[in-house]
Amino acid sequence: MIIVSACLAGIACRYDGKSTLHPTVKRLVDTDAAVPVCPEVLGGLPVPRTPAERNGLHIYQRDGKDITQEFELGCSRALEIIKDIEQEQPVTCAILQTRSPSCGYGKIYDGIFSGKLIPGNGLFTEYLLALGIPVLTEEDNLEEEIKQYI
Ligand code: SF4
Repeated sequence: MIIVSACLAGIACRYDGKSTLHPTVKRLVDTDAAVPVCPEVLGGLPVPRTPAERNGLHIYQRDGKDITQEFELGCSRALEIIKDIEQEQPVTCAILQTRSPSCGYGKIYDGIFSGKLIPGNGLFTEYLLALGIPVLTEEDNLEEEIKQYI
């Protein structure tokens, strides 16, 4: 089973109330090969919501509010979902939305809302990597890359 960022599956859960539908990811969900999760919504954050960025171990909204606790709660709920799936079958990989403070992989915004990207991962991504779950993004050639994980 593959874990995917819910916004890539067409679920309108982004901070701006939109999705980032990716046809391959949606097909994986529609054929029960993938499960969508949105750690920010699982953490109780609304849609739409104030944009947030990761700065070190903390997550801040653009208005300065520290919402690390909500992000941590969302990650732990998402990890519970993964644990439940793994009772039945292994989670082989994750396909995550780039640049997000939760789901970003390899590069994220710099945490001070300057619009610049820096090397780093979102909080949820870090938990998945710590579990040894390989991470792909919507910028990969998914049709090719996912063959080894299905
Ligand atoms: Fe998409 Fe992840 Fe942001 Fe949710 S937390 S909207 S799944 S990038």
